[in-house]
Amino acid sequence: SIVVTGASGKLGRHVVEQLLEKVPAEQVTAVVRDPEKVADLAERGVRIAIADYNAPETFDGLFAAGDKVLLISGNEFDKGRVRQHTGVIDAAKAAGVALLAYTSAPGTLKAALADDHRGTERALLDSGVPYVLLRNGWYHENYTENLAPVLEHDTVLAAAGEGRVSSASRADYAAAAVAVLTGEGHENTTYELGGDEAWSFAEYAAELSRQTGREIAYNPVTTEALTGILAGAGIPEPVAAVLAGVDASIAEGELVVDSGDLSRLTGRPTTPIGEAIAVALKG
Ligand code: NDP
Repeated sequence: SIVVTGASGKLGRHVVEQLLEKVPAEQVTAVVRDPEKVADLAERGVRIAIADYNAPETFDGLFAAGDKVLLISGNEFDKGRVRQHTGVIDAAKAAGVALLAYTSAPGTLKAALADDHRGTERALLDSGVPYVLLRNGWYHENYTENLAPVLEHDTVLAAAGEGRVSSASRADYAAAAVAVLTGEGHENTTYELGGDEAWSFAEYAAELSRQTGREIAYNPVTTEALTGILAGAGIPEPVAAVLAGVDASIAEGELVVDSGDLSRLTGRPTTPIGEAIAVALKG
């Protein structure tokens, strides 16, 4: 079977939906902590397995020899994600899976956020399990799902300077994962995934202005200022620093991915940021 962890998450849901267009539901297993979140998928015939990255024994016997597994990285930054992910990799190895694909971060990204991904990649390569590294670039939705403060102040606030981002939609990255899980010949490959067009925050503000008919400006601030602003808005200081660190990476060009791997894997151009903005504005 094809087994997807993090299936209750936003990316995981896109992956399962797109898998169901290609393979029978009984060949798909959704791994979740809380089965209630995927009751609709169970109804459609998807197999549900319950496991928690924090309890590696819950993955014992979950995989079968020959399975193709998508390990979607977790979001519990304070729980030791490398240890969490390694538990899944160990179980996959013990079962003799045919492939384990992991949603990582761009190889160019040096921000602290990438450390867990580099650690997991190392554990996966060391395991000897046939792997695919899906080094996902940024999601459009990181921005377009957070438009409320932008529209409130008519300002795009970021510490990214003139830096550009090759973002793509979650659905695009999901399509790449599905291509790998349902295709052949991807073993032991690293894909650098990003949108076809990189944009700057000034261009992003201009596109928002065009679509809203208002004047929305980019206000570039320093990393320190952004950390303070985010902390002031109630985000814990260490998290605020990590988020501001991403902007610093963007300023350095670390989130520009120009490999073309994403559109090559999916066989179509990536979703333009303008399309994601339009979807978000429609609400
Ligand atoms: P979500 O936060 O929507 O989904 C995270 C998924 O991980 C959920 O299904 C969640 O389960 C699951 N998960 C978290 N902790 C555990 C655990 N201990 N045991 C089992 N499952 C767990 O994120 P997205 O789907 O949008 O993105 C997927 C991943 O990509 C993120 O988790 C993060 O690592 C990374 N990411 C990438 C970004 C990018 O721009 N490339 C931006 C943001 C995140 P549950 O539903 O039970 O909470």
